[in-house]
Amino acid sequence: MRKQVIAGNWKMNKTLAEVEAFMKELIQDYPNESGIEAIVCAPFVYLTELVKLAEGTQIKIAAQTMNDQTSGAYTGEVSPLMLNDIGVTHVVIGHSERRAYYNETDETVNKKAHAAFNHQLTPIICVGESLKQREAGDTLTHIESQIKLALKDLTEEQITQTIIAYEPIWAIGTGKTATHEQANEVCGHIRSVIGDLTNDSVKEAVTIQYGGSVNPDNIKALLQTEHIDGALVGGASLEAESFNKLIKVGVNL
Ligand code: PGA
Repeated sequence: MRKQVIAGNWKMNKTLAEVEAFMKELIQDYPNESGIEAIVCAPFVYLTELVKLAEGTQIKIAAQTMNDQTSGAYTGEVSPLMLNDIGVTHVVIGHSERRAYYNETDETVNKKAHAAFNHQLTPIICVGESLKQREAGDTLTHIESQIKLALKDLTEEQITQTIIAYEPIWAIGTGKTATHEQANEVCGHIRSVIGDLTNDSVKEAVTIQYGGSVNPDNIKALLQTEHIDGALVGGASLEAESFNKLIKVGVNL
């Protein structure tokens, strides 16, 4: 069975007091032996504290981006070495907001994926089409190109460990979720592209999440599909109660 991963992407939200309150509530109610991997993707400034708060639980802590260089004259940037140094285990790469506002490209995504593995971080690589691309019937070709460029020159073992998040841009933060059929179709295509790049065992093992307006009411149908192994959740991950509900739906499937 494939690893199921529910990740909460807080984006640029929360104060330190809110972070502490969230973790307290999450841990109190968290089904530790669930077999589901839960990841909190938080702003850099809270990562050290979050790693401490999550100690002794199965909750993993992720950064929302990083530089691909290990160190150097890159004012304002955070390196994979630093993330690994403080106990962060995962990093989100190529979120559509990073691609839209901070010039991330398929090329930088690939560089960052290599950098993540060089520093023992698991990348959560985001791909997704715009509404225009979907309406033009270009979804599958666009996603295929994003996947091939993102995974370029990674080893089969690294690709197996990578988490892919399929996030249609038109579904992010809009309340407009892709139907589970639409999401499963694209995730199935991603799986077959990965199979072409590698082999059948990698294809079957790789974890593919769906993201875009996931909430406690719609997650079940998404997780029940063949190719969706979890979710990357923005808005509905901001409250511990709602994040825990998402995890519990996964546990009870
Ligand atoms: P959303 O965000 O769940 O608020 O749509 C998802 C994401 O951007 O990862």
